[in-house]
Amino acid sequence: MIDHSYLKDLAALLGVFLDDRALERFDLYAQKMCDWNEKINLTAITDPREICVKHFADSLSVLAKVEIPQGAKLIDVGTGAGFPGLALKIARPDLRVTLLDSTKKKLTVLEDISQTLELEVELLHKRAEEAGQSGDYREKFDIATARAVANLAVLSEYCLPFVRVGGRFLAMKSAKTQEELTGAKKAIGLLGGSVETVHTLQLETAGERTIIELKKTSPTPAPYPRPSAKIARFPLG
Ligand code: SAM
Repeated sequence: MIDHSYLKDLAALLGVFLDDRALERFDLYAQKMCDWNEKINLTAITDPREICVKHFADSLSVLAKVEIPQGAKLIDVGTGAGFPGLALKIARPDLRVTLLDSTKKKLTVLEDISQTLELEVELLHKRAEEAGQSGDYREKFDIATARAVANLAVLSEYCLPFVRVGGRFLAMKSAKTQEELTGAKKAIGLLGGSVETVHTLQLETAGERTIIELKKTSPTPAPYPRPSAKIARFPLG
């Protein structure tokens, strides 16, 4: 379905090498996602080239900007159809990836796709704010990622609790993040994080993207993340 050399070149522009197995997996991924999209609303992006840029290359841009150690434990929060988490697993099968989403149907899709791709990932059907209070997941990850889930203050409350001290939370955003950063500054500090670097990049034909890299500098205090209703009514910030 996708043009392998087009995707290979897009990834190479980001400094990411995709071998034939990875390209084959991305191809199957695109096919399966489009098949499922007929039954479940997963994505508005169905043109093969657009999938390559706006889903696959966008997900891989994380690897262009942040060095992720071999075998790192990564959780993708609000993963939807698997972005960026499953795309990162294809490019870096050494990563131990957990895909979390609160929508059961999305997990059904991801189970089917990951089996087809023969990739071992942990699938977690939970709300982030519930899983973040569970001893099985709290401060157990080297990296948390999230794309298109919530504003940075809310997202930090969802994601920072998963990250071990010394680990990173990578928030993927489109352009213009200054306002969000200002609004989330207090929340990030309260949750045990600090802004390490704000990376910007040009995504081929799709414009500017930002990856906000937060470092976990101290444990997240026990009350966080708070229950959903509290987060919604009293956002930190
Ligand atoms: N990250 C994917 C992407 O960029 O294509 C999906 C983005 S989609 C707009 C947001 C996803 O976050 C949805 O699948 C939704 O179910 C999930 N989500 C929203 N709030 C969540 C929460 N509190 N806990 C877990 N998942 C959540």
